[in-house]
Amino acid sequence: MDTDFIVIGGGIAGASAGCALAAHGSVVVLEREDQPGYHTTGRSAALYTENYGNRVIRVLTIASKPYFTRHGFLSPRGVLWLARADQGAAIDRALVEAKAFPQRFEEVAKAEALRLLPVLEPDYVGRAILEPDATDMDVHGIHQSFLKGLRDAGGRLVTATGDAVARRGGGGWEVETRQGAFRAPVVVNAAGAWADVVAAAAGVRAVGLVPKRRTALTFDAPADMAVHGWPMALDVDETFYFKPEAGRVLASPADETPMAPCDAQPDEMDIALCVDRIERATRLRVRRITHKWAGLRSFVADKTPVVGEAPDAPGFFWCAGQGGYGIMTSPAMGRCVAALATGGDLPEDLRAMGLGRGDLAPQRLQRTA
Ligand SMILES: Cc1cc2nc3c(=O)[nH]c(=O)nc-3n(C[C@H](O)[C@H](O)[C@H](O)COP(=O)(O)OP(=O)(O)OC[C@H]3O[C@@H](n4cnc5c(N)ncnc54)[C@H](O)[C@@H]3O)c2cc1C
Repeated sequence: MDTDFIVIGGGIAGASAGCALAAHGSVVVLEREDQPGYHTTGRSAALYTENYGNRVIRVLTIASKPYFTRHGFLSPRGVLWLARADQGAAIDRALVEAKAFPQRFEEVAKAEALRLLPVLEPDYVGRAILEPDATDMDVHGIHQSFLKGLRDAGGRLVTATGDAVARRGGGGWEVETRQGAFRAPVVVNAAGAWADVVAAAAGVRAVGLVPKRRTALTFDAPADMAVHGWPMALDVDETFYFKPEAGRVLASPADETPMAPCDAQPDEMDIALCVDRIERATRLRVRRITHKWAGLRSFVADKTPVVGEAPDAPGFFWCAGQGGYGIMTSPAMGRCVAALATGGDLPEDLRAMGLGRGDLAPQRLQRTA
């Protein structure tokens, strides 16, 4: 065997897994593109929030925070969750869900919401929740820190591999690429939206991954407003969000359009929807869009990541289904992959928060398939 572990995919998932695995043996991370952040990892909204997704996501997010704070990757932002008068039930639901976790998540008076985000249209806002401890993340810095950790431990990132194809052979796995062939007893599938494609090529049963397009854009902030200190505004039913971004405003219609894995591009209808929703909720007027893009957030049926050995393929490990939380869960996800791929159980801090292997295992999907 050439190496102990091969990781397919060099986005945040593959980089974090590669970095964590490098403490246990030799690692090669294979990335199809010239740049490892080219797909979803380089297209996120860069928000860290502990009030997003189900229990498993929240545990993985909370367990990732120490890594981010240790390296200085978080900066203050806050999130203001917004509801119109007819969305009161959604606000009540969000407050109940947040109770199971210790972070601050409190309803604020409408006047306070308007003070925090003066650009809101007063007639639009019914109720609001403030999550003061949500932060911005330095996504590039996080990704690079995992790649540096990989290199420092003697691991390698190989880019421009084309579609790496894994096949069983020689008592382990052989992976063919444009940069040559690699052999290892363990292969980790961290191919983002392509994870089921990689599995199919390897003869491994799929987990039912559905890539969903999400659109984002930036536009000029009003010249007479200091936007930098605004919290992110997030519709409680997740139909739009916006936040300051390098002197401009970053916004999304929070679309989730299922599609085959691809280099996702923004759709003009989603851009128009985004502008309409933001102009209804605020006094912002979108006169010039400075940048627009789209990325694929990939989910399995229960919207929970898949980490663990494929039941039908010894030595083939999943690290997929990161959905809309793949950056903020990445340090914990990488540690889970390394623990399981080296024959151990989930890391102790995660188990102490109630996470079990079954929560992440691919078997749970194949049982219900
Ligand atoms: C608009 C938007 C906003 C988001 N906001 C947030 C946010 O605020 N916070 C958050 O935590 N998350 C957010 N996300 C989600 C987050 O970006 C993803 O969960 C995360 O980037 C997924 O990382 P990944 O490594 O799995 O995928 P990717 O970054 O897509 O990496 C997968 C890599 O695998 C490579 N690959 C695929 N097939 C092969 C093959 N056969 N051989 C070799 N390489 C292969 C691809 O080229 C790709 O580079 C957002 C996403 C979008 C689109």
